[in-house]
Amino acid sequence: MYTNFSPTRIVIAVTILANHDFAGLVADAAAHHRAGRLGEAQAGYRAALGLSPGHASIMHNLGAIAAAQGNLHSAITCFDAAIAAEPHYAAAHVNRAASLQALGQPRQAIEAFTRASALDPACECRVCLRYSRAYLRHLYASNELLAQVLNTAHNLHFYLATMRTVRAWIRAGHVPAAGASQM
Ligand SMILES: [Zn+2]
Repeated sequence: MYTNFSPTRIVIAVTILANHDFAGLVADAAAHHRAGRLGEAQAGYRAALGLSPGHASIMHNLGAIAAAQGNLHSAITCFDAAIAAEPHYAAAHVNRAASLQALGQPRQAIEAFTRASALDPACECRVCLRYSRAYLRHLYASNELLAQVLNTAHNLHFYLATMRTVRAWIRAGHVPAAGASQM
C-alpha cells in the first residue's frame, strides 16, 4: 500500500496531524474559556502549549485565566511570555497593565498602559516610551508642530535600529530567515 513512504512524507503527515490536534485543542479550550469553565480551558491551553511552546495567544489566554483566578503574579508571567513571543500584542500589554494595577503597582501599571497605547509597543524610542498613540493622534489632529517632531524622532530611531540590524547581518555574513529577525 504505502510503497513510497519517504521520511519527508512522514514529516509532512506528522506536521499535519500535530497542527490538526493543535487547532482542535485550542478550539476546545476556547469554548471552555467562553463558557467560564476555567479549569478545563487551562488544561486545554496547556496541552496545546505542549505542541507549540511559547505560543503568544495561548500564553495570553492562560494569563487571562490566571488573572481571573486572582493569580496575578502568574498572570503577569504569562503576559510577559506572550509579549516576548509577539512584542506588538496590544491585548497582552493592556492585561499586563491591568494585573499590575490590581497588584497595587500603579507606576508600573501606567508604564505598561503607555506601552500598550504607544505608536509601536515594541519600539524603545523616547517617544514610544513616553507618549500614547491617542496623545500623538491629538497632536496630529490639532496641527501641532510637536506631532511632526515626535514622529520624526520615532522614525529616526526606527531607521537607525534597522541599519544597525542590517550591518550586524552583513558582519555575520547571512540574513536570518523571515520571522527570526531581531529588529
Ligand atoms: Zn518609537
